[in-house]
Formats: sequence, C-alpha cells, structure tokens
Amino acid sequence: MVHRFLNAAKANWRFFSTLKSPVRETSSELDRQLEELTSVINAVASMTPEEVQKKMVDMFGVTKDDMKALAPRPDENDPGKFEHEPCPDDDVRTHIRVGDSQCLLTNYLKRRLEHIPGFPRPVKMMGDKAYRISPTLHRGLGMFAARQFKTGDLVADERPLMVFPVGPPTDFDLATAKVPGENRIKLTLKSSDDDLSSIFERMSKESQEAFIGLQNSHLQNGLLFGTARTNGYGLEDDLKDETENVKFFSTLSSDNKMTELVKSRIGTYAGVFKDLSRVNHSCSPNVRRKFHMPTFSMQLRAARDIEEGEEIFTTYTQDLRPAADRAKGLAPYGIKCTCRACLDPAKSDPIRAAVLNYSPRTLLPLPAGTRDAAVQILARIEEEGLQASDVYHKTLFDVFNAYAYARDEKNALMYGEKLWLANLAAGEPLYEMFRNAKLLKKSPPWVAGEFKEMPEHLISLFNAS
Ligand SMILES: [Zn+2]
Repeated sequence: MVHRFLNAAKANWRFFSTLKSPVRETSSELDRQLEELTSVINAVASMTPEEVQKKMVDMFGVTKDDMKALAPRPDENDPGKFEHEPCPDDDVRTHIRVGDSQCLLTNYLKRRLEHIPGFPRPVKMMGDKAYRISPTLHRGLGMFAARQFKTGDLVADERPLMVFPVGPPTDFDLATAKVPGENRIKLTLKSSDDDLSSIFERMSKESQEAFIGLQNSHLQNGLLFGTARTNGYGLEDDLKDETENVKFFSTLSSDNKMTELVKSRIGTYAGVFKDLSRVNHSCSPNVRRKFHMPTFSMQLRAARDIEEGEEIFTTYTQDLRPAADRAKGLAPYGIKCTCRACLDPAKSDPIRAAVLNYSPRTLLPLPAGTRDAAVQILARIEEEGLQASDVYHKTLFDVFNAYAYARDEKNALMYGEKLWLANLAAGEPLYEMFRNAKLLKKSPPWVAGEFKEMPEHLISLFNAS
C-alpha cells in the first residue's frame, strides 16, 4: 500500500517538483535539486515497505491505516489482473454465450473473461423503475427517465443482444492485405455478414425479434450489418483483445491510412442492445456509458442531475468538435441534430473549442492563475452541458488538487464532492480524500503544499539514518 502511494509519486515528477523552493534558482541549482530528488526517490525504492511506512509516519504523520484509507475505494467492476500466457489459438474466433448475449470473440478474450472471479456477475436490475422506452417527437423511440437521477446514479445496466468484432481478425496480415486494392481492404476491415449471420442464428427468438425491431439507418448494408452498424456501441478498451498480434500492431507507426485504420480497429468489438441502443444522440448528453467485463454489461450513469420524464441522451460523435464536424459524423446515421449547440454554433463552437483546447494537468498542484483558468473551464463545461466528457472529471481533479495544495479546505472539499460524483459517473477511481477533511489533510497535494518551501527538510529526513 505504501509502495503503491510512493510509486505513484515517483512516476509523477511533477508531484516531487512541487517540493522545490518557490525562489527562482539558476539551472545548475535546479539540476542539483533534481539530482538530490532522484537519489531520494531511489532511496525510497530500495526500502522495505516497513521502512517506507516509518518514514511516512515520521514525515507526514501518515499511518498504515491512513494509507489504506488514502487508496481508492474497492471497485466492484474491477476485472482483476490477467497474467496471460500466449496460446497458439489466441487469435481464433469462437462463439460464446453470456446469459442471453451471443458473441463472437477470440479465444484470448474467452479465457480473459473466464478468469474473472464469479463471471458473469449479476447485472443490476433497473427496468421499469428507472427508465421507459417511449416514442419521441422526431427521433423514433427513445429512453426516458422514469424517476429523478442525481449525478453518478445508475440509469441502466444491460447485457448486449450480440457482440461482434469491428476490426479485422487479430491474425490479420498487413503485408498481403495491402496487395489486392481498395475493396479487399474494405471487406477485411468490416465485420463480415457471415460473422453476423453466425451470431444471429445462435440468438434466442426473442433476441432476434428485438434486434430486427431496431432502427436500420444503413439499408444499403442489408438487414444484419445495417442494423448492427446503426445500433452498435464501440466497446473500445473496455472489451479488447490483447493478443501478441494486437500488441504488435500497436507498435507500428501510423504512416498510412491502412495501418492507421487497422491499428484503430484491430481487436475491438461493438455491442447491440435491446434498450440501450434506443438511446438517442445529443451533443450535450446527460449520461455516460461504460462496458464492464465482470457483469458483461453496459452501464449508463447520470452525468448530471436528470429530472423524471427527461429524455436520456448519449453521444454518437466527438461532442467537443465544432458543429459542422459533428454534423458530418452524424450524417451517415440520418441524424440531423437539433440540440441547442447545433442550432447556435456561433455561440457554442467557441466554448467547445476552449474546452477541447484545455489540457488538464492531473496530479500537478496548480499555481493560482492556472487554477482560475481551470475553474473557468468548469463553468463552460457546465454551461454547455458537457459533463459527460472526460475533460470534466479531469478538470475537477485539477481544481481539487490546486485547492488542496493551497490548503484551502472549504474549496477543496466543495470541488472534491463534485469530483467524487463525476468519477462515479465516469467509472473512475473513488478516493475518500475527495470528501473527507481528515484524509484530505493527508493527501499528496495537501502534503506537497505543506512542504513546498522546505525541500532541504524533506531530503534530510529521507537521507537520515
Ligand atoms: Zn447537436
């Protein structure tokens, strides 16, 4: 536990760099301090956990119990580690059934899933109590809140009807694929009708009917591929092959369109859902979606407070891009978005551009000017309804860190509470220090704030004995 804390600090030079004196030094003075800090870090790395524990208690009054409390809260959706011994049939695709979900996955992923204790863990029952599927005015069916939700609340938890690969087979041969030209490449890169048929025919009659009943905005692609393409959510890193071949592709440089496409898709999957696929698009979505391997289900969580009767929206595109780019991305789905941002791009585009161009500086205790900029970005995110984007919880983390570093308890806890809820919505780690005054005062940014003017003291403590 202690090592985990220190390793995190070690990995983040910025954290230790805050221990420097605020007085402007010459570069050789900086070099000297850097060297000293390196030796401190190396010294820590060579200590036993007991020795590190003793140092922590001496320096910060951080006890073993505190260290436990400073660690993230256990995550029920954590699939655990998978020590993978490569097998010759890793890349071979196979049909697997999880509950009522029919899937075409690699043997690698099959083994990965079976390795999760208790797989598949039960899905949370939400059903009629939480949402209903009803007609909308102009967008066909949609999902509506059947009750009020607070930020972070679970709105839906559902297993897919089917999961299919969206990329080429993971033993894809880049060299031969280049030879025969455009059509062959297109064929190789999309999931084949044969794959989808083989999944579809294994589905229960009920699931088949639910699938066929979904919208098809790609009629030219036929019933199966058209419906899968219209309704499939990319599962991205939440369910992805990590076979030796996929790892190899990730090391290639994206020097042409072909490698770029293969790299972005290889080993990835999409899922089609009975209810979740009914959720319509908005450029200011009110939920976040995340697929969890242990339950083999996708969860929707409220990205901000939602009133009973409000329509639930997710995003199908990159919602921080300008309206014209978003329209291009949505056109193939026959969607002409009429959200507030799309109706008034002159007002919305500059705000989104500012949010997009802001780079969160996680774990770095920020100087006051930068902190104020982060607070302004937060206001813009809230004004534009962009709480479902990653930049929201990252910016909140910046502001929390900055106030903790400045040892401003009131503001740190105020933003810490928001950060807790934003992380809950995003499926990010939850730390009690975000909302607990006692732990806040033992958190890395607070401790760093305390020591920022005493590097010599810190170093001598580490080097003593
Ligand atoms: Zn829109």
